[in-house]
Amino acid sequence: MRKNIVAGNWKMNTTVPEGVQLAKEVVEGVAAAADLKCDVVVGVPFTHLTAVKAVLDGGKVWLAAENCADHDKGAYTGEVSAPMVASTGADYVILGHSERRGYYAETIEMLKTKVDLALAAGLKVIFCCGESLDERKAGTHFQVIKDELVGSLFHLEEQAFANIVIAYEPIWAIGTGETATAEQAEEIHAFIRQLVAEKYGAQVADDTTILYGGSCKPSNAQELFAKPDIDGGLIGGASLKAADFMGIVTAF
Ligand code: PEP
Repeated sequence: MRKNIVAGNWKMNTTVPEGVQLAKEVVEGVAAAADLKCDVVVGVPFTHLTAVKAVLDGGKVWLAAENCADHDKGAYTGEVSAPMVASTGADYVILGHSERRGYYAETIEMLKTKVDLALAAGLKVIFCCGESLDERKAGTHFQVIKDELVGSLFHLEEQAFANIVIAYEPIWAIGTGETATAEQAEEIHAFIRQLVAEKYGAQVADDTTILYGGSCKPSNAQELFAKPDIDGGLIGGASLKAADFMGIVTAF
């Protein structure tokens, strides 16, 4: 049975003390929520991992980094490797976010390497895919998503693939206030699950968690999460206020 997950992606927001405070509020919210139907993850900047981990310890909230390097170690000034992330006690790493692909020129091939390094370090991966507005208008969105998944993930053995969570994030819906309709999102989620089924079989596809990301908020989360192939959300802006984030966590 696949897990439902709601994961926050704080991006480059909050100082360490602010992040620790936000994490505390999320931990308290989760502790107070009766009968939660999803796992909760907070994705935080590298600088925050250790301090936030200390707050999460013993609670029910998992920790993610927002990126890792495409090398294991060495002379890569300013980079943070997957083993370094894992050594903070983080459980997940978010890879392939469209902001990383767009602003930092992360390629499908580079992401394949990052995925391998993250899994080798014992991290689970929240792997983002999704099309731009131009690609959707041109009708190439299915192919774009397929290329991203095949190119960076589908070389994995089935056992390794079990540690992958896929996040469908249409770029045109990220931080824009424009959400994909629940029907648009479900269409792509079902397509992704079908791709996983063709590669790994029906059981693996059924066990794969597929999140939606793109202006998800308390007011639209319920409708999105009600769809059969939407197993939760990757949440940007609305993860920066504990009350909003909890409004999504409790939407199941
Ligand atoms: C994101 O960047 O992963 C995201 C989903 O952002 P937002 O919720 O702000 O659209």
